[in-house]
Amino acid sequence: MGIWTVEKLETKLIGYRRHLHAHPELSGEEHETTKTIRKWLRDDGIRLADYPLKTGVVAEIGGLRGGPVIAIRADIDALPVQEETELPFASQSPGIMHACGHDVHTAILLGAAQLLKERESELEGTVRLLFQPNEEKAKGAGQVIQSGALEGVSAVFGLHNKPDLPVGTIGIKAGPLMAAADGFAIHVEGRGSHAAVPEASIDAIVASAHIITALQSVVSRNVSSLDSAVVSVTKLNSGTAWNVIADKADLEGTLRTFREDVRAKVRQRFEQVVTGVGAALGALSSVRWISGPPAVVNDPLWAERSIRTARSLGLTVVEPAPSPAGEDFAFYLEKTPGIFFFLGTAGPEEWHHPKFDADEAALPIGASFFAALAVDAIAALKEEREGGAIRARSARSVGETVAGGGWGDA
Ligand SMILES: [Zn+2]
Ligand SMILES: [Zn+2]
Repeated sequence: MGIWTVEKLETKLIGYRRHLHAHPELSGEEHETTKTIRKWLRDDGIRLADYPLKTGVVAEIGGLRGGPVIAIRADIDALPVQEETELPFASQSPGIMHACGHDVHTAILLGAAQLLKERESELEGTVRLLFQPNEEKAKGAGQVIQSGALEGVSAVFGLHNKPDLPVGTIGIKAGPLMAAADGFAIHVEGRGSHAAVPEASIDAIVASAHIITALQSVVSRNVSSLDSAVVSVTKLNSGTAWNVIADKADLEGTLRTFREDVRAKVRQRFEQVVTGVGAALGALSSVRWISGPPAVVNDPLWAERSIRTARSLGLTVVEPAPSPAGEDFAFYLEKTPGIFFFLGTAGPEEWHHPKFDADEAALPIGASFFAALAVDAIAALKEEREGGAIRARSARSVGETVAGGGWGDA
């Protein structure tokens, strides 16, 4: 299988991407984007599926003769960033920009839809297209799952553009690819006093300073050198005047981890340090966690299969270094095995930068790879089912889909 009808697709996908790029919408507010995607899908004769989502679109291709259901996802939201690219199709909404390239992802999924539609009669299963809202706030995947759109799905696939990989390169890695991204808020309660009478105070700033310093040892003294974690305190608010000792302080920051056991241990040690160090200085301190998505953990079997598909299209496959950024695709992978991969887009800047951009030559490549992955995944699932093979899959994968009868027409 080569890269299908790419030339004629490229112009169309560039048009989609530029329109989306010029009209970005923030997470959870993708109303016009939703309407536009629905219109484009309808124009291509692709059937829309009815799931209760305020924003975002679900559509389906195939399934005419039953068979397994697989899902491909693209996120559609933009960021509160003022664009500085000076591109002719730059954002027309001040302060909002597709600075993470989700416009690219959406155009790619639309392209994959079109390629799969051309082969719909040959498809021996259903491809469910998830145009997911609200990724940047890590809420959209949960909303899609809540809507029921992941039900019956045996494998799920998603991508992220990667500015530091060349076009024509795919980054695929079994196991952890992106980090669990938790936020924290620490409150330190002391007692205020005149700055000249410290003995009457419990100084919240001094306590915070000790807490911040002690937190630097949470990773270095508790996490194996073979694992990794990041603790960053990014915000500290305290004090009112030069001659008043602060009675309270509020700190914020983030914790990034790639494994659940490391995540749990770091959170536990973190809390002990905050409350213990605070108490040693007489202050009452507490931690509130803002739990983000878990780590993106790719299924080894689907990683292997995806690498085969990429090579069959003549693409270069590399094993990327894991990214400490978070990605709510992790919520799908908690429920259904699959792959989240990187697509080389040779951009000038990293994600979320005001001059972020992507090489549009990657659009038809992403679309072809998604489409080929869908076809190959359906074939692999059918073969598994017909062979009745029960594989010893990773413990957290969904055994029932492998054991047979996992989809509707069994
Ligand atoms: Zn982002
Ligand atoms: Zn993103």
